[in-house]
Amino acid sequence: MEHLLEVKDLCKTYNTFSLKHVNIQVPKGSIVGFIGENGAGKTTTIKAIIGAIKREQGEIRLFGQSIDTNSVKIKQDIGVVMEGSFFYDNFTPKQIARVLSGVYVDWDQTIFDAYLAKFKLPATKKIKEFSKGMCMKLSLSIALSHGAKLLILDEPTSGLDPVVRNEMLEEFLGFIQDEEHGILLSSHITTDLEKIADYITFIHNGEIVFTEEKDELICNYGL
Ligand code: ATP
Repeated sequence: MEHLLEVKDLCKTYNTFSLKHVNIQVPKGSIVGFIGENGAGKTTTIKAIIGAIKREQGEIRLFGQSIDTNSVKIKQDIGVVMEGSFFYDNFTPKQIARVLSGVYVDWDQTIFDAYLAKFKLPATKKIKEFSKGMCMKLSLSIALSHGAKLLILDEPTSGLDPVVRNEMLEEFLGFIQDEEHGILLSSHITTDLEKIADYITFIHNGEIVFTEEKDELICNYGL
């Protein structure tokens, strides 16, 4: 099976916490739910995958290539949504789009404008005046507007009301209709994962405890 993302033997140590030999795969055409208690290491893993923090050990392969060999090109094909990840909160969505059109080779302004309209986001209002839900929708609009093949989403639905959450889940399901696409999605909201995930990877205290097909988990363990 071809994988969009392969994390092998990832290790990272902070003072009182370490990721221990973490392995994760995202096969093409699938949504992998990444779950674990507060402080289990989900965000740290995701930060290491996108190169936001340095790892001590392990290999990260995206689209079959090591992230260390061609990270600029590889990052064009990843859409990332993380809480509080806006650097430009004095900017409006329109201004951000202008910046990102110079960053992403495949930036598609028509798609971005369509998402702003769909999510009812004002193009000329400053991000610092956006609600949390609006920020999440804007992040997702950006992630979906530059031809990404893999979405890496850290708690994208947390704190959102059920209507907005369902809108986001619909977008995720729409995205993986393309068999070349995939999603790694960390969440505490197990009902969301029950609706959309194909696989569940469970991390506890910095160690992967299991990766299972969601249907197997429900069938065998009633989880
Ligand atoms: P949550 O579900 O609460 O978001 P998480 O699974 O995403 O949790 P992480 O944010 O990865 O957990 O944190 C894992 C551990 O690493 C925690 O004990 C946290 O305190 C620690 N940690 C995270 N970032 C740092 C840092 N920059 N320096 C030191 N320790 C850190």
